[in-house]
Amino acid sequence: MQDLVRYARSPGTLIASRFEGPDETICTCCQHARATVSVAGKALCPTCLPAYALDTPRIDETASLIWLPHVDQGVLSRLTLALHAVCAQQGEAIGTATTGPAGHAGAIFAELRAQAGGLIERIGTAQISHLREAARKLSQAPLQRQHVASGIRVLHHGVGLPDEPNSYRHYLNTLKEGSSS
Ligand SMILES: [Zn+2]
Repeated sequence: MQDLVRYARSPGTLIASRFEGPDETICTCCQHARATVSVAGKALCPTCLPAYALDTPRIDETASLIWLPHVDQGVLSRLTLALHAVCAQQGEAIGTATTGPAGHAGAIFAELRAQAGGLIERIGTAQISHLREAARKLSQAPLQRQHVASGIRVLHHGVGLPDEPNSYRHYLNTLKEGSSS
């Protein structure tokens, strides 16, 4: 499992770049979806991307931090992708429907998002854009740091990065087409 605090302390700019690898490369984080982008040499899918592209301008529009120690980032990404996909299948975005499968997916997403509270208690923020600075302030003591680092996860809101906000919706649509063919 990735130590997000250690990662957030890494030098260099953490933004997405074009993925140049073979077409069928699988995301190194969720081990599930096809990789479409690369950050610091890691091949990533669109759902895992914001957990790594920490220096993307206005990244908080795309995802936020939650405290979820018992679910690793890859599993959370798979779950989040499934929730967004259910909504997309019904022509909805997460949280816009109140009934049916999309409404149910929205309720689960809201539960996940509410886990931001546990993280704010621990590190004072749930914004990804604050994580680099918050990570620097955390104790260097390995046990104490591990205690905090072990539960930080990134929750994708179902919106693409700010320079291409519709890209995630397009991504979900390509999955829909792929599953129906
Ligand atoms: Zn992934």
